[in-house]
Amino acid sequence: MATIGFIGLGNMGGPMAANLVKAQHHVTGFDLVAAPLKALEERGGHVAASTIEAAAAGDVVITMLPAGPQVRAVYLGPDGIIARAKKGALLIDCSTIDVETARVVAAAAKEAGLEMLDAPVSGGTIGADAGTLTFMVGGDDTAFARGEPILKNMGRTIVHAGPSGAGQTAKICNNMILAVSMIGVCEGFVLAEKLGLPAQTLWDICSTSTSSCWAMNNYCPMPGPVPAAPSNRGYAAGFTAANMLKDLRLAQAASGNSGAPSLMGSAAANLYQLFVDGGGGPLDFSGIMQLVRGPASKA
Ligand code: NAD
Repeated sequence: MATIGFIGLGNMGGPMAANLVKAQHHVTGFDLVAAPLKALEERGGHVAASTIEAAAAGDVVITMLPAGPQVRAVYLGPDGIIARAKKGALLIDCSTIDVETARVVAAAAKEAGLEMLDAPVSGGTIGADAGTLTFMVGGDDTAFARGEPILKNMGRTIVHAGPSGAGQTAKICNNMILAVSMIGVCEGFVLAEKLGLPAQTLWDICSTSTSSCWAMNNYCPMPGPVPAAPSNRGYAAGFTAANMLKDLRLAQAASGNSGAPSLMGSAAANLYQLFVDGGGGPLDFSGIMQLVRGPASKA
C-alpha cells in the first residue's frame, strides 16, 4: 500500500483516484471544486484542504489537471508540489499538456532531488472508470520502475516511451493521427452516401481493406455499422471535440517548434475549430461527421 496525494479530481482524476482507493492505497485528494472531494471521501479516500496538504501527504503525488498553465502553477513556486512534497516522493503528472511544460517541470523536480514522470492517458472517462487506461510515460528508468505498479491500478497498458516529455509526445502524435483518420473516414462515408452506396456495405468492405483503421472499425462516425460507437447515441462523448481540439493545438505548437511538417494536422485543427465554434465542443470528437456531412447528420 502506498500513500498517494492526488490533485485534480475531475472527469478523469476522480475515477482514477477511486481506483487507487479500491486497490487499498491511502489516497489524499485535492480539487478546487467541492463535489469531487465529497465523492472521493464517500469512496474511502481522504480530503486535503490545499495543494500543499495533498502534496505533502504522499510518497507518490499524482496530478490530473486541465492544461500546461495549471500544471506549472501547481508544481512550481514556493507553494508548489515540488517545494512541498515529501523528500524522495515520486511525482506523476497524468494531464495532457505541452511537451515543453512537461520537460520544464521535470527538470525543476530533478533539481530538487525528486523523480518525475509525465504519464498522459488514452481511454477517456470509460477507461478511467474501468481502470483500463493506456499510460504513455516519459521519465528515467528508475522513476518508471517506481511508477509502473501504481499506474497499473488505473490502467491496463503502461508504455515507457522514453525520457521526460516522451509521454506527451506520444499522446499528441497519437491524437493528431486519430483526428486526421477520423475526418478521412467521415469524408469516405459521406462520399459513399452521395453516390448511393449504403454505409453498411462500405463498412463491410473497408473495415477489412486497406482503409481499415480504429476510427473506422471501432468508432465509425456514420451511424449504423458499429452499434457501440457514439454516432449511434447522438455523438454523446466519449472523448469530446473540445479535448481533441486542445490536443491538435498542442500538436500544432510542437510541429511549429520542431519544424515537422503537419499539413493534415493543421487542416484537422482548423476543422475541429470550426466544429467547436459551431457548438460541437461538448460532443464526441466523431461528431465532426456533422460538419462533414452537413445538416442531414443532425436529423
Ligand atoms: P476536468 O476539467 O474534468 O478536471 C480537471 C480538474 O482539475 C477539475 O476538477 C478542476 O477543478 C481541477 N483543477 C484545476 N486547477 C486546479 C488546481 N490548481 N488545484 C486543484 N485542482 C485543480 O478535466 P478531465 O476531463 O478530467 O481532463 C484532465 C486531463 O486529462 C486534461 O489534460 C485532458 O486533456 C486529459 N484527458 C481527458 C480525457 C477525457 O476523456 N476527459 C481523455 C484523455 C486525457
